[in-house]
Amino acid sequence: MKKSDALKLQKASKVIHVGGEPDNETGAIMPPIFQTSTYVQSSPGTHKGYAYSRSHNPTRTRLEENLASLENAKYALVTSSGMASEMLIMHALKKGSTVVCSNDCYGGTYRLFETVFNELHNFIYIDTTDIKLVRKTLTENKVDLLWIETPTNPLLRITDLKEISKIAKENKTKTVVDNTFMSPIFQNPLDLGVDVVTHSMTKYINGHSDVVGGCIMLNNKAFYNSLHTLQKTLGPTQSPFDSWLVLRGIKTLHIRMKAHEENAKQVAKYLDSHPKIEKVLYPGLKSHPQHGLARKQMNGFGGMVSFYLKGDLKKSKKLLSRFKVFSLAESLGGIESLIGHPAIMTHASVPEKERNAMGISDNLIRISVGIEDIKDLIQDLDQALEKV
Ligand SMILES: *Cc1c(COP(=O)(O)O)cnc(C)c1O
Repeated sequence: MKKSDALKLQKASKVIHVGGEPDNETGAIMPPIFQTSTYVQSSPGTHKGYAYSRSHNPTRTRLEENLASLENAKYALVTSSGMASEMLIMHALKKGSTVVCSNDCYGGTYRLFETVFNELHNFIYIDTTDIKLVRKTLTENKVDLLWIETPTNPLLRITDLKEISKIAKENKTKTVVDNTFMSPIFQNPLDLGVDVVTHSMTKYINGHSDVVGGCIMLNNKAFYNSLHTLQKTLGPTQSPFDSWLVLRGIKTLHIRMKAHEENAKQVAKYLDSHPKIEKVLYPGLKSHPQHGLARKQMNGFGGMVSFYLKGDLKKSKKLLSRFKVFSLAESLGGIESLIGHPAIMTHASVPEKERNAMGISDNLIRISVGIEDIKDLIQDLDQALEKV
């Protein structure tokens, strides 16, 4: 199947077919892993589009075609990690740029900005769910880039992407959305006017907790070229084998996201009615303050659920050591259910005062709901909560 035909496909078919053309030479239905660093040239400078695998590799190209189609983008760039993608975007900005960022972004993003790129650029952290504040910040400062995560991690707060893109365009500010939590199945920011999308492929896109990777999708050719040149120059490319694993994992992305969401809805409902839980955060719950916006801009509510336990750090720790099906671990988006303590685990690099002000307190717990049988997940939550 040709890529041009495939663009008309539905997502459930795109994940399987785009970039998945049979091998030209042998007819093998699955693409080979081009485990090669270099390519033979017929005369100096004459080659088939591939000269060295730091800049191009056919396995990576196939994955990039697939990813671009899922975000309705012209270009996709696959990198060695989600952080590598973020690094490339930051390096593509002119020195001295002003970047406005969601204040409860991924902890690693905050660390990257505050410990590496603060030497080059100026960072302002605001609540991007507050449209008035965004408008004020963009009109009062010359902002080069607006970095948005929606839903945020771990508080699952939602930013209105259509509205914010409009304001950004009026102020000539480029917008980036870290779309890791929704995957391209549940949210397509480019369709809502956003300029650039990034993902940690380590999470839902690969989905099997066995690869680290990142990607960037966009429509602007000049910006794509500068990102690709930076990747070639700095070197954070993904290995052919890892790209092949992601190509394998992505085939079930559509069906996995549905299964994650189905389970997450039930976990959220169960926790919401549990007497030992103070509050549940899940965009699919009617009680979520932005449930309406979530319905409007997302095609699903995702597989991440956060909740506040009634109690303190001691109780939270006690609860977290009691699970048998859920694993206590960082990361998210794999087929297996994970549970974690954001303040100690994923968000330790955010200063305590700021953490508490945001709501990432000692009794906040985050779940990445896997695709196991829901009965086993509920039973595990039940037995663990009973003991605290
Ligand atoms: C994990 C994650 C990242 C970083 O990606 P890596 O693949 O771990 O480098 C960035 N943003 C979000 C939202 C993430 O969950």
